[in-house]
Amino acid sequence: MLARATVPVLCYHQIRDFTPDDGPEARSLTCPPTLLERHLRALTEAGMQPVTSPQLVDHVQFGTPLPPRPVTISFDDASEGQFTNALPILQRLSMSATFFVMTVVLDKPKWLSRDQVRLLDRAGMTIGVHTWDHHPVTKYTGADWAIQLQQPKAELEQIVGHGLDLFAYPYGAWNAEALENVQEAGYRTAFQLSDKPLDPQRPLFTLRRLLISSSWDEQDLLARLQA
Ligand SMILES: [Zn+2]
Repeated sequence: MLARATVPVLCYHQIRDFTPDDGPEARSLTCPPTLLERHLRALTEAGMQPVTSPQLVDHVQFGTPLPPRPVTISFDDASEGQFTNALPILQRLSMSATFFVMTVVLDKPKWLSRDQVRLLDRAGMTIGVHTWDHHPVTKYTGADWAIQLQQPKAELEQIVGHGLDLFAYPYGAWNAEALENVQEAGYRTAFQLSDKPLDPQRPLFTLRRLLISSSWDEQDLLARLQA
């Protein structure tokens, strides 16, 4: 299972043009739509083939074959530009992606609406869960497990009308207790970030994603994927 958990998974955040208010950190996590399109076109031109998160997890868990040079694309946090800017690009390039949604922001200005989450699902995108309010799972006690792991899953399942079982740890942070709670809450898999190794005992709950910086052009992105 470990040897199969090597498909690169890209992790984007906001997809919109920069504003004068964006500081260095916001800029790093904000990818202008034109750059996203250049990144995604470069993947195809390099012979990489997007696969969905469920395809990726089937591969890791059961050995289900994937096309050569697979790559998975994901977006975190549920900001509005993921629907208004990223979805049209993905559709133009016939690519599918996963959207990890935190539910506290839904229907608020500049964030996804519940209708947009449903439309992403209907457009063939995968919806994953990214907690209620983005607190790191390493800090949860008592009722937090239900509030952050179970309730957002149930709410998003109600929005899209079917079961959801993918989770992404806020900030990529996790520990053994959190991992057990994620498993108990009914998730099939959970994604961290690539700054930490896979847990060899539980690779399905420590799958790694590459945090994409908007300072990378398409050559930088390909170089990181080949590293
Ligand atoms: Zn996040």
